[in-house]
Amino acid sequence: MNASDPAALRPRLPSPLEPVADERFARHGVRLLLKRDDLIHPDLPGNKWRKLAPNLRAAAGRTVLTFGGAYSNHLRATAAAGRLLGFPTIGVVRGDELAGRPLNPSLAACAADGMRLHFVDRATYRRASDPGVLAGLLERCGAPEGCRVVPEGGSNALAAQGCTELGRELRGAADVAAVACGTGGTLAGLAAGLGDGARALGVPVLKGGFLGERTAALQREAFGGPAGDWSLDERFHFGGYARVPPALEAFARDFEARHGLPVERLYVAKMLYGLVALAGEGAFPPGTAVAAVITGGPQPAASR
Ligand SMILES: *Cc1c(COP(=O)(O)O)cnc(C)c1O
Repeated sequence: MNASDPAALRPRLPSPLEPVADERFARHGVRLLLKRDDLIHPDLPGNKWRKLAPNLRAAAGRTVLTFGGAYSNHLRATAAAGRLLGFPTIGVVRGDELAGRPLNPSLAACAADGMRLHFVDRATYRRASDPGVLAGLLERCGAPEGCRVVPEGGSNALAAQGCTELGRELRGAADVAAVACGTGGTLAGLAAGLGDGARALGVPVLKGGFLGERTAALQREAFGGPAGDWSLDERFHFGGYARVPPALEAFARDFEARHGLPVERLYVAKMLYGLVALAGEGAFPPGTAVAAVITGGPQPAASR
């Protein structure tokens, strides 16, 4: 395969858009659609495909070095792309306390795909975008000359540009497009790609209220300024990243039973919960078509 061309992975694009009957929306005259980005590719699902593809094209087969936490979907997707397309990958993992321990299933999958893992302490990790810190890090990782550095979560200008296609695929079909947000890269591109008259709604899954700033900064980098109509609803993080309290778990199970959609818990469940709550509050006028972007599926089990 040509290591510079992610199209060789045959992504399912545009991703399917499925109407679902849900009385919690229908009773308010609102139509719910599922934008099945989770079906784009089995190993590079959802927004991870959209964000990585332009970065891999730019890397043109060189080593890709990137960053993530111990359960990062982005690290897994990058490692899988490296295996499938035949380029080397290095993963910088947050938390040097993990170094001496057995790998969790997510990191084990990365390693099995040939990703070289490098564990760093949290303070260094946080400052990795500082050029001096990064230079030291690259040296300690033994990163080759000219290797391509992709930031945490894969979110940079190229990634946001890659996600504009998601917005374009929804033009004319959705008035509101909702997406769960980690770094805001997907939201930044989605909003830019939606046509006039449609808006993007971001549901942050982390606590802290910093995402508006981050998303605006990514839009400046990618598009030179604000692009499209977007907003955030900060009420549905359920205590923070990876927190899945019983009420959210129950909601996700019920959604799965109603619609047969496997609901990823850390991101997608919170976005869907937020949409149901907003519909109940009458936040969407009758006649609104709401597209819920299904950015990924549940994590695979330990073996693969
Ligand atoms: C990574 C991820 C997100 C967050 O995307 P950002 O661009 O970082 O905001 C959302 N959903 C799923 C399933 C993810 O894996």
